[in-house]
Amino acid sequence: MSKKRSQRYICPFCYGSIDMSQVHYACNDPLCTRTFLGTCTEAEKRRYGSVYRPEEEIDVERSEFLGLDPYGSAAVTTKSHIIRGSVDGKCEICGSRNTDKLCPRCHHKITKAAERWGTSIYVLVGSESVGKSHYLASLIETLKSSYAQEFGVTVAATTENTADKFDDEYRRTVFDGGRCLPPTPTYGDVLTRDPLLYDLDRNDGDGPRTLAFVDTSGRDLDSTDKLASLNISTYISGAAGIMFFVDALQLPAVRTKLGLPAEDRPDPAAALNYVAEVIRDKNRLKPKNPVEIPLAVVVTKCDRLMRPAMGEEDEDALFGPESSLHIPREKGQADLDDIALVGTEVEEYLRRNAGQDLLNAVDQFETHQYFAVSALGGEPADGVLSNGVAPYRVEDPMIWFLNTTERRKWL
Ligand SMILES: [Zn+2]
Ligand SMILES: [Zn+2]
Repeated sequence: MSKKRSQRYICPFCYGSIDMSQVHYACNDPLCTRTFLGTCTEAEKRRYGSVYRPEEEIDVERSEFLGLDPYGSAAVTTKSHIIRGSVDGKCEICGSRNTDKLCPRCHHKITKAAERWGTSIYVLVGSESVGKSHYLASLIETLKSSYAQEFGVTVAATTENTADKFDDEYRRTVFDGGRCLPPTPTYGDVLTRDPLLYDLDRNDGDGPRTLAFVDTSGRDLDSTDKLASLNISTYISGAAGIMFFVDALQLPAVRTKLGLPAEDRPDPAAALNYVAEVIRDKNRLKPKNPVEIPLAVVVTKCDRLMRPAMGEEDEDALFGPESSLHIPREKGQADLDDIALVGTEVEEYLRRNAGQDLLNAVDQFETHQYFAVSALGGEPADGVLSNGVAPYRVEDPMIWFLNTTERRKWL
């Protein structure tokens, strides 16, 4: 396969669109940093020399990406000499060629898999407490275990940082502790916005494919201030797919039909219209132009809706025993017929309970599908899942994305 020099790459950390001929490199020779600092020009010394750690180079780009003063004590410094302006990774100090490519804007490493196939960024959006983070926790856990086994693929964290972050922020709380997750911090905190990166390998010799999952804060979506819209547009501008989450139990019609007390919640149609508007703005699309980024509309907490109706009133708000949600997916292959069947039922459910406005908002997205999932499999009591976690249908949106929208079909 020939590679064009002007190949572009979307960085899953800074979301910049990178020209692959402009990347930086890190030299593997530990002596180069010292030699560089000893022989560089005065201007370079001022720019890259650290008074706090004289043996190391200041990583100016990474410090600035993290919002740190490159000349303060908290700046990021590195023992690996950074090579800028080289097309083949040749170090100007030791002359050896290096293969560790770095994003020129944020200096996160660009892995071989990411360079070959690109990184597919999936962004999770939805109003506060609709269940995005619990979904992500269950999705990753499912991909790594039953999904990998069923489809004969390997799913592994791309970086140690992802493995640690998933364990610390998701798995330990939900799966080991049986407890609920706190709300996702807003975009403002730069250290928390790192995506979770996973390599999916079909083990067919083609090498792994990198998937990035970005958990956004509901507060960023519900807020209408300028900064929040800027944040959302940064996340989604290069997305391979958007997952939009709806908690049916937050819909006024469902609450009435199930006899639950009224709650003041943001309107999902308005939230999704806002997402479409932000993308059109960013990608300079006209108001009537369809949005090309594929959309999965995901109804969460479906375990609480999958029960027989007591009467006519609540029947409309539930997925009863005859629901297609009970029909199992065919194992070991991408059963898109089953996904379409469920999708039709969920669409009708939302037409009845959320209204045509939401469906119209969804229709703005050229490629879309409806899903119903349960991340936890049961309702937590006082933030605790006493019966453990039993995810239901959480892999469906990924099966659809990987087989509908990716350049290479996956399972
Ligand atoms: Zn970057
Ligand atoms: Zn070197």
